[in-house]
This record gives sequence, C-alpha cells and structure tokens, in this order.
Amino acid sequence: MNELSVPRPNNLDAFWMPYSDNKYFKGTPRLLARAEGMNYYTPEGREVLDGTAGLWCCNAGHGRREIVEAIQKQAAILDFAPTFQLGHPIAFEAAARVADLTPDGLDHVFFTNSGSESADTALKIALAYQRARGQAQRVRLVGRERGYHGVGFGGMSVGGIGPNRKQFGAMLPYVDHLPHTHLPAQNAFSRGQPEHGANLADHLESLVALHGDTIAAVMVEPVAGSTGVLVPPKGYLERLRALCDKHGILLIYDEVITGFGRIGTHFGAERLGVAPDIMTMAKGLTNAAVPMGAVAVRNEIYQTIVDGTQAGIEFFHGYTYSGHPLAAAAAIAAIDIHVREDLPGRVRAIEGYWEDAAHAMRSAPNVIDVRNHGLIAGIELAPREGAPGDRAMRVFRRCFDEGVLIRVTGDIVALSPPLIIEKPHVDRIFGTLQDAIHKEA
Ligand code: PLP
Repeated sequence: MNELSVPRPNNLDAFWMPYSDNKYFKGTPRLLARAEGMNYYTPEGREVLDGTAGLWCCNAGHGRREIVEAIQKQAAILDFAPTFQLGHPIAFEAAARVADLTPDGLDHVFFTNSGSESADTALKIALAYQRARGQAQRVRLVGRERGYHGVGFGGMSVGGIGPNRKQFGAMLPYVDHLPHTHLPAQNAFSRGQPEHGANLADHLESLVALHGDTIAAVMVEPVAGSTGVLVPPKGYLERLRALCDKHGILLIYDEVITGFGRIGTHFGAERLGVAPDIMTMAKGLTNAAVPMGAVAVRNEIYQTIVDGTQAGIEFFHGYTYSGHPLAAAAAIAAIDIHVREDLPGRVRAIEGYWEDAAHAMRSAPNVIDVRNHGLIAGIELAPREGAPGDRAMRVFRRCFDEGVLIRVTGDIVALSPPLIIEKPHVDRIFGTLQDAIHKEA
C-alpha cells in the first residue's frame, strides 16, 4: 500500500450492481478506486487508461480541480433548496449556460438527474405540447430499433434493444419503431457517416399511414452509442426532419452521448447539420462529477405549454433534485472547461488520427466492421460459435488487465475516451486492443 492506494471493500455482496454479471464480478472483482486526467487507478494504484470516459461521460478528463472546488464551495453555500414553486440562483445560472450551447431557438431547459429521466421528460414534454396545441390525439411515440434511451418505462419502451425489454413484459402501449440503420452489407468499414440508408427514414411515412395523426414525436440518438455505435447514414436525419415537419411530429434527439463535444461540436445536432425540436442531455453536462440531466426545448414548445394554462402549474412533472445546487455548480464549472479549453475543437483536431487508428483494427482477426464519428469508435467482432458476446468480453478483461479500459456491448467494442486525449493515448488504446483481439482469436 502506498499513500495513493485505497483499501478494497471487504463485503462485495450488498451492492446489487447495475447492468452487471454480479456472480462473475464478485468472484473476480476489477475495481477502480481513483482517477485523474486520462487515467483510473485500481485500489493497489495500478494505472488503467480510460478509453471510455467512464461511461461516455467524463469528457474533460477525471478529477478536474475546477469542478471539485465548485462543488465544495456550493455545498457550503446551499446544500439543497426545492425548485418546485421556489428557486435558487445557481439553477437559473446553469440553465442559461446550457441554453448558450444548445442550437439557436432551443433556449428553455428542464433539469433532471440522469439520461433516463431526460428521455422520459422529453417524451412527456412532447405529449404535453401536442395536447396544449390542440392535438390531444397525438399520443403515440416512435423510437428506433437498437435505440437506447435509458431505463425508465418511457425510454425503455421507445428504445429498441431487445434484452433491455424482455424481462419487463408490457410497456407503454402506444409506441412504434423505425428500422435501425445498421447495413453492414453496404456500409461496413465506413469512415464517418455511411453512404447508404437515408431511405430508412422513409419508414416514418408507413407509420403515419398506419397510425394517422396520432404520432406525437420521434426520438432517436443522433449517433447511437450503447447499441454499438451506429452512425446515421448521409441524408438520413435530413429526411427524418422533413417528414416530421410534414406530419406535425416533433423530432427529439437523445444527445446524452453526443452532447458536450463528443462529435466535435457542442451538440451532435450542429455537426450533423439537422436540429431537433427537443434534445436530451446528461453525462458530459457535469463531466459526471454529480448526476444531472437536462432537456432543452424549442421556445415555441415551452411557450405553448406555459401559455396553455391560465394559472397554476403548467407541466405536472419534476424531480426533487431538478436543478440541485451541487449539480448546477458542477455543470457551470464543466461548461467553463468545455468552452475555455474548446473541447469540441480538440475533438476535431484529433478525430482524423483517431479514425485512422480505429480503421487500422481492420487487419486484426475476427474484426467484421469498424465505425466511427468524432471521438467515438465501434469495432465489431465476429461472435464465437454458440457464445455471443464471449469474445468481446474476454477482450475487455484482457485490456483491463493490460491497463486499458474499453467497453463492450455484445461483440462490439465501443470506445469514447475523454476529449482531452492525445496521440500517445490513442496509440496505447488501439495497440492494447489489437493485442487482446489477437490473443482471443
Ligand atoms: N440515452 C442515451 C443515448 C444513453 O447513452 C444513456 C446512457 O448511456 C441514457 C439515455 C441513459 O442515461 P442514464 O444511465 O444516465 O440514465
């Protein structure tokens, strides 16, 4: 033990770990005890290079002093105050700072505590807006196969990942899905946005033919992350936007991953050139130092809902911790870093190097696709016969033991490092991964 080591817990049993193989983990625990800059450290002090920004969230790197100090300072000023029919200054300041970064015209911000809550909040805003504008029949929500919008009943229902749904039986009744945009036969090894698949957005026409004017909103991730990195085909979002406009349907972007610089602009909407009506965010908002999510909406949506009620509460929704002072302080400090260090600019400066390194993986055994956008990469491996996910999981464990944190979903390796990454880190991540994939061939 040195002064930077942290004792291992002696009881792993009580914590029911989320999205985890509890039995395996507790037999072979891999613990992260400390973090700084690009690195995690195990309890014994072994360095693990963070290839995933935690869970796509520590965009400015770990342990940023400015954020830590802002949280400490705020805790001493105001630990908590409600935001139901009351307010505290820092929540308003944080909302204004978020609105400065969101696309023009999306200037109203509702705070939540997570991406899942942001997804459910966005869906509820869409329903409330349609009702307030006299379209109360619009109760249907459309998602996309392989979409991930968190684990609330709304986000899970609109989401399109089978294993996330099958344990829970019936979900929201009025939900339908667009087809996913993964076309490996045409698009494998695309760099950035793939050429083929814009026409998949046209499926919304079929849903309108089927459901008439009962669709309130369509929700998609601009670049789908958790499902294994699916980059929108060229022209796809443009078509989806046009069809939503044509049919009076709101377009919601789930920007929980693509927000705060990940693909080289403040939000994915900007880089991809198509703006939504509503956007969700979380993760990078506070650099993950305190849980916080948010939903930004077009001004007309806010105004219609607020003006739709003569007096009293206009939107029957909110969380005890909406705009929590510590989260608001962390968000402001994180946004300061985002702007001052031009994190989106850093992504654009290194994304070409990142792309080349990702696509060099093509030569490794069993690599069947590589996809990338901004500082995201997905490397898809051929599943082992009869054991889907096993190859990637073994690669994950091998990389961890070799000092690099990657993330796997099924047989896809998903990489999303802190945006402060430099070229030697890129080399180490892909070098270690290359080695691990060879050893698991
Ligand atoms: N939406 C997207 C696009 C996500 O990637 C995630 C989490 O990875 C969520 C929603 C859910 O966020 P949370 O885990 O903070 O609830």
